[in-house]
Amino acid sequence: MQNSKKDIRALTKEQLREFFVSKGDKAFRGNQVYEWLWGKACYSFEDMTNLSKQTRQLLDENFVINHIRVDQMQRSSDGTIKNAVQLHDGLVVESVLIPTSSRTTACVSSQVGCSLDCKFCATAKLKRMRNLNPDEIYDQVVAIDNESRLYFDRPLSNIVFMGMGEPLMNFNNVLLAIDKITDPEGLGMSPKRITVSTSGVPKMIKKLADDQVKFKLAVSLHSAIDEVRTSIMPFNATFPLKDLREALEYWYQQTKSRITYEYVVWKGINDRQKDVDALVQFCKFAPSKVNLIEYNPIGDDMFEQAEESAIKMYQDTLERNNITVTVRRSRGKDIDAACGQLANKIA
Ligand code: SF4
Repeated sequence: MQNSKKDIRALTKEQLREFFVSKGDKAFRGNQVYEWLWGKACYSFEDMTNLSKQTRQLLDENFVINHIRVDQMQRSSDGTIKNAVQLHDGLVVESVLIPTSSRTTACVSSQVGCSLDCKFCATAKLKRMRNLNPDEIYDQVVAIDNESRLYFDRPLSNIVFMGMGEPLMNFNNVLLAIDKITDPEGLGMSPKRITVSTSGVPKMIKKLADDQVKFKLAVSLHSAIDEVRTSIMPFNATFPLKDLREALEYWYQQTKSRITYEYVVWKGINDRQKDVDALVQFCKFAPSKVNLIEYNPIGDDMFEQAEESAIKMYQDTLERNNITVTVRRSRGKDIDAACGQLANKIA
């Protein structure tokens, strides 16, 4: 049966205050409810124990609290945890907890499926069904924070928007979720600990720069040669590297914030010296960091991890050009939780 009650977390704090005033109660009641909803991530009016029974009843008559449910949790031998997260309408996305000795990172989804079509990505095989709401993104973070405390005895330290979906194609909701995550009345996390990873939507990168956002930006680049990039990320034909580069220059001018590039090196695709030379040319206009990421096969013959010698060539050339480079070995491969592998395969 369709529930016609409104999701209370779609209301701003001001709207909650107005609701109580319209019911003859004090506006302050709205602040109390807001604190339960966001500060305490409470999913039941019944549990809002500092509200009277009548107030809880009033809320129950008018609203629902749509929330996620961790449907299934898988733990990798390296400690990585993958959650299959069921949304209120039954759709499923995935999020991942990645522990290291010094930090716990949540990798969260922003869309159900993805509207883009990167050839190396398992999520691309699921068509985009809808954008996630801010509370659905927020809840993924809360669930991983709880798991981090439970299994690793420490709170979540970092968040990356690198799960299912292209975050900048769900721009408003991602920004609203980050507002709540960083709000002292929400999770109070520093924006410096949040990275939004995009495949490169130039217009939206410029908008982030105009908004003077304080979180970090990462770009899944994978090639700085249009022809190559279009062959593995077909939307590059619509948003070519020239436009991406211009948007990133604008980002740097406005924010002075370093750009991270995510980059997988594949055999026979981008493992030549001219590929790395193009990468250097592309990113040397601003302080940059290149993460060379190990490839996680998704059962497609087109892609194969490059030889170690190609990775070494990338490392040496980037370092010679004063570009910070790290090689990231993948985590959670045994449970399909590694980068590019999220495709609701748990069920
Ligand atoms: S890599 Fe990211 S943007 Fe590309 S299809 Fe996968 S989820 Fe979408």
